[in-house]
Amino acid sequence: MEKREELYAGKAKSVYLTDDPDRLILHYRNDTSAFDGEKIEQLDRKGAVNNKFSAFIMQKLEDAGVPTHHEGLLSDEESVVKKLDMFPIECVIRNITAGSLCKRLGVEEGMDLQTPIFEFFLKNDELHDPMINEYHIRAFGWADDEAVEKMKELTFRVNDTLTRLFADAGLLLVDYKLEFGRYQGEILLGDEFTPDGCRLWDAETRKKLDKDRFRQGLGGVVEAYEEVARRLGVDLS
Ligand code: 5GP
Repeated sequence: MEKREELYAGKAKSVYLTDDPDRLILHYRNDTSAFDGEKIEQLDRKGAVNNKFSAFIMQKLEDAGVPTHHEGLLSDEESVVKKLDMFPIECVIRNITAGSLCKRLGVEEGMDLQTPIFEFFLKNDELHDPMINEYHIRAFGWADDEAVEKMKELTFRVNDTLTRLFADAGLLLVDYKLEFGRYQGEILLGDEFTPDGCRLWDAETRKKLDKDRFRQGLGGVVEAYEEVARRLGVDLS
């Protein structure tokens, strides 16, 4: 497969066209950003760790019946994916209170929720990804009702699969964000699943092993990602 021009550069990944109109190459860079790009740093090895981490998780999700855009690893920092028509929406599930939920509702971090909470956000950095609901999605035509239902169903299936996968590795899946798109009429999971876009805590100590280490200046960011990857059995070589 031939790599062509850059289509888009996000905060942590660059997306390239290929000679196949239905395939893209994702390049996971070492750039790490928080607070809608206000804080940016380069962290050695992060691109490669996240590339291999996401490939591993996407494969586990495929095995569990969640269709994804992932096709395969191309190099340490690059993967080949199907080219999706993305919805401008983020789907979040929370199992334990943390992050923006605590700020919004004035609740303390670390409360086990009686049932998972599902939330939609609009993908828009300038507006700081505002929370939206299904009425906003319908009224502005960001996705049709069938797609909304499918995104919810798949996001919950991801929760069932990954809470178990992480629990077996002694980890709590606190919350995570997913993005979906359409490919030849089908809704597929796109983007990535890495510790950049989820919260993972050690089940015993509740030590943070995700991007909150970067957001909160706790240090040891990539080391924490590598520890999670090691516990899951991700091949980082
Ligand atoms: P919160 O709403 O608490 O900030 O985020 C909830 C979960 O979704 C966290 O795991 C967080 O990492 C993830 N998340 C939400 N928005 C974004 C985003 O724009 N980029 C990334 N990488 N993760 C996000």
